[in-house]
Amino acid sequence: MSLQFFNTLARAVQVFTPLFPDRRDAQGRPAVALYCCGPTVYDFGHIGNFRTFVFSDLVRRHLEFRGFGVNHVMNITDVEDKIIRRVREQNTTLLDFTGRYTEAFFADLDLLNCQRPHHAPRATDFIPQIIALIQQLEQRGIAYRAADGSVYFSIDTYRKCGCKYGQLVNLNLEDQRPTERVASDEYEKDNLADFALWKARVPDDGAVFWPSPWGEGRPGWHIECSAMSMALLGPSFDLHLGGEDLAFPHHEDEIAQSEGAGLQAPGQPFVKYWLHGAHLLVEGKKMAKSLGNFFTVRDLLAKGFSGREIRTLLLSAHYRATFNFTVEGLEGAREQLARIDECLGKLRELAATAPAVVAAPAPDDRSAAFVRIFAEALDNDLNVSEGWAAIFEWIRETNRALATRELSPTQAQAALAAWTLVDRVFGLGNPPATEAPAAIVALAQERVAAKKAKDFARADALRNEVKAAGWIIEDTAAGPKLKPLAAAK
Ligand code: AMP
Ligand code: ZN
Repeated sequence: MSLQFFNTLARAVQVFTPLFPDRRDAQGRPAVALYCCGPTVYDFGHIGNFRTFVFSDLVRRHLEFRGFGVNHVMNITDVEDKIIRRVREQNTTLLDFTGRYTEAFFADLDLLNCQRPHHAPRATDFIPQIIALIQQLEQRGIAYRAADGSVYFSIDTYRKCGCKYGQLVNLNLEDQRPTERVASDEYEKDNLADFALWKARVPDDGAVFWPSPWGEGRPGWHIECSAMSMALLGPSFDLHLGGEDLAFPHHEDEIAQSEGAGLQAPGQPFVKYWLHGAHLLVEGKKMAKSLGNFFTVRDLLAKGFSGREIRTLLLSAHYRATFNFTVEGLEGAREQLARIDECLGKLRELAATAPAVVAAPAPDDRSAAFVRIFAEALDNDLNVSEGWAAIFEWIRETNRALATRELSPTQAQAALAAWTLVDRVFGLGNPPATEAPAAIVALAQERVAAKKAKDFARADALRNEVKAAGWIIEDTAAGPKLKPLAAAK
């Protein structure tokens, strides 16, 4: 099966082919450009936000697995209505305030093992490009100045130029003429209105303003993404991602601004594939700051969960299906990881007994079939449920083969090579290494000596002493191994 995604623009699953089939990246791979709307850095992100970022990480990882060279851009929205309100309330500066939450965002992204984007532009570093784009719209008659000095996008003029407003969502424009204007960055579908590109400075903005041809002010949220994506990826690119709430108005407005500026080659769209991730819910409602029903990554770490467990939970459902976050769900993710880790641990022990350590082992037939089934599931619009099913079928079969001693050390190496390939896509990584303290290691070594000297009473006493200290000794083919008691249960 070829790689397919559900494209919101087509309202259908479509085969993925790069917009520019002849383009290559520095390593000679077919080049693909991906933009994902990043966080608004006015607070710590909640795990609903991170569901969307883990989803975009999965898209990138799977494209890379399939041999594409992905150029990944994720912006940082560091100037918009909510940020300015908080900067004012906390009597701080924009840079200090947003810097703090940008840093926290990347720390959380790392904890969830998301690959860092190649470019993470901050809107405030792109003011000249934003102004140039608004000027281009103004020259084409699509942007106009209001009495207060703000600049708005004219939906009517845009449509008269032959462009379509309502590409991602169905809008009944005949019944609903856009007569009003909105200054706010967020508005509802039924409030179809010209939206702000440049907002004239008001006293509440404090020190947050820039000079412009229209006087002092600041950009609207939607124009920021159009300017940054086109500056870094060109006027037409392959993939644009975000949470489903961004489809309207944010992404619709991005299309209108970018295509309204007319920078694309004839017949080329601004973006070929639009992918939207469904929301993470809590008791049936969207997890959201405004509803107070959210958990940050930090909240969950404080409850004793790990970034790996959160990532596993966020990858458990198809990206177009909503699902409810629960602590039980996280506990389930923990159990799944324990099953995987236990099996991989046994494979590693067996592989270590191979006469020769192969530098780059390849999957054998059995493990290659596992990789193929897994990858084909992901090709099918990222069908993670089938991907997980392939993983647990492989774990079950591997455990059986380990128990019956059917696997050779070389086969164990091949199985581990297959897992490495699969984990390039899921990015579950390894559990944090738990090393026993030196005193416990010394006791375990003393026990080996006691056993050699056939002093079994002493060996048993040492085993009990180690156990009392919270560690368990497992005798393996590769020698004794120390495991924390909790993990060995
Ligand atoms: P924001 O920081 O509010 O700009 O949001 C960052 C990203 O998180 C956007 O792509 C949103 O669509 C997404 N998002 C917000 N809430 C949720 C949620 N409950 N589930 C999934 N994605 C969300
Ligand atoms: Zn955006």
